[in-house]
Amino acid sequence: MNTPMILDALAAVQRAILANEAQIESLDRAIGDGDHFINVRRGCEVLVVMAPELNGVPPGLALHKIGMKLLGTIGGASGPLISSFFMAMGKTLEGIDEPDRRQFAAAFASGVEAIKTRGKADVGEKTMLDVLIPVSRLLLKLADEDTLLPALCAQLTQEAHHNMLATKDMIASKGRASFLGERALGHIDPGCKTCEVAIAAVCETVL
Ligand code: ADP
Ligand code: MG
Ligand code: MG
Repeated sequence: MNTPMILDALAAVQRAILANEAQIESLDRAIGDGDHFINVRRGCEVLVVMAPELNGVPPGLALHKIGMKLLGTIGGASGPLISSFFMAMGKTLEGIDEPDRRQFAAAFASGVEAIKTRGKADVGEKTMLDVLIPVSRLLLKLADEDTLLPALCAQLTQEAHHNMLATKDMIASKGRASFLGERALGHIDPGCKTCEVAIAAVCETVL
């Protein structure tokens, strides 16, 4: 993995987020304050503008710079969380010019840990972590087993998808949806939808 690959993946994430505007929007309107799509879109736009200056930068530093930039752009609860994900990934990959799959999996796991710490949340609380934690665990396992890329991507996409759907049956204990109690039932967590769309998009670009 190198920086141009990361930038390609993030451009694909932006296209996928835009293509899913209606659903992401309506989920945060149902159980949040309706701004999640706008927050994430703003983050994607800023990354695309930054891309040329990041091209020649090593992956760890590029991810760190992305995290710093997102901190001041996305806003909402998700802003600092997504930003801490990229900064932690960058820190883990510091000094590695071409991270291999295991190093990438370890960096992804450290990004997810950073979200857990920053958001003081874990699985089962109806947040983006309900997609990110199981996907990260599976990625570590598959990278360790040297699973071939197409199978790895197919399994990660599937894992993200069913864990995203499972948030429908959860009551939220973190974020704005926690104010709704049982009224949050029947709705997918918007952050999980965003993560699922992003994971599927990244998987498509690496195949
Ligand atoms: P806000 O809720 O401030 O309007 P967004 O709408 O951009 O921010 O993001 C909402 C999403 O953030 C939720 O759907 C959820 O996935 C995620 N989220 C909220 N609080 C937390 C938390 N403490 N830990 C992890 N993720 C969280
Ligand atoms: Mg919101
Ligand atoms: Mg908000």
